[in-house]
Amino acid sequence: MPESSPPSSRPASLCVFCGARFGTDPTTRETAVALGRMLADQAITLVYGGGGVGLMGLVANAALDRGGKVVGIIPRFLLEREAGHPALTETAVVDTMHERKLQMFERSDGFVVLPGGLGTLEELFEVLSWRTLGLHTKPIVIIDQGGYWKPLAALLQNVVEGGFAERTHLDHVAFVDSIEGVLPAIAAMPRSVGLAKRLDRV
Ligand code: AMP
Repeated sequence: MPESSPPSSRPASLCVFCGARFGTDPTTRETAVALGRMLADQAITLVYGGGGVGLMGLVANAALDRGGKVVGIIPRFLLEREAGHPALTETAVVDTMHERKLQMFERSDGFVVLPGGLGTLEELFEVLSWRTLGLHTKPIVIIDQGGYWKPLAALLQNVVEGGFAERTHLDHVAFVDSIEGVLPAIAAMPRSVGLAKRLDRV
């Protein structure tokens, strides 16, 4: 069970969720590199899944090349498949995916999402749903590179309009269209737990 720790508006560490592949839009790679550089320049520790593949590897390399701190959390069984990065500031090898996600959650002050696949979605939805349950108040920022996440924004709106989530739950997640928008969005994010999730009794 995660613990709620109130983050300051200036994060010391951010966890990045993103694809283990590059995707089809070549500009996404540039955005991944720009994110890694920005984190290093701002002295914000990058926490991520620890792999050397896809956008994950690009973000990590860009941060390291710029002298940033990078912490990777990788399950033992993925060390080979996701090419566990050999030169991170720190690598934690864990036993399970659940342990990986918990450590990524505990070791970061907020979450930034780049384009990615099912793993990225799973990681995002876990921290977003924990936020709606009041288990933490860490900000979640989604970088909508090239409109990749527009269908996700529409889906979340639909969930609210369909009566399955509070509109205020969407205050916990910001969509930005550039790296420059990430830190301002974090600074503007409400720190309160927000409305308790309403349940309908039968
Ligand atoms: P993907 O977005 O599918 O390219 O995956 C990005 C990262 O998420 C990779 O490091 C995967 O190991 C990880 N991942 C994949 N499936 C899951 C899952 N069910 N739970 C947590 N992480 C996952």
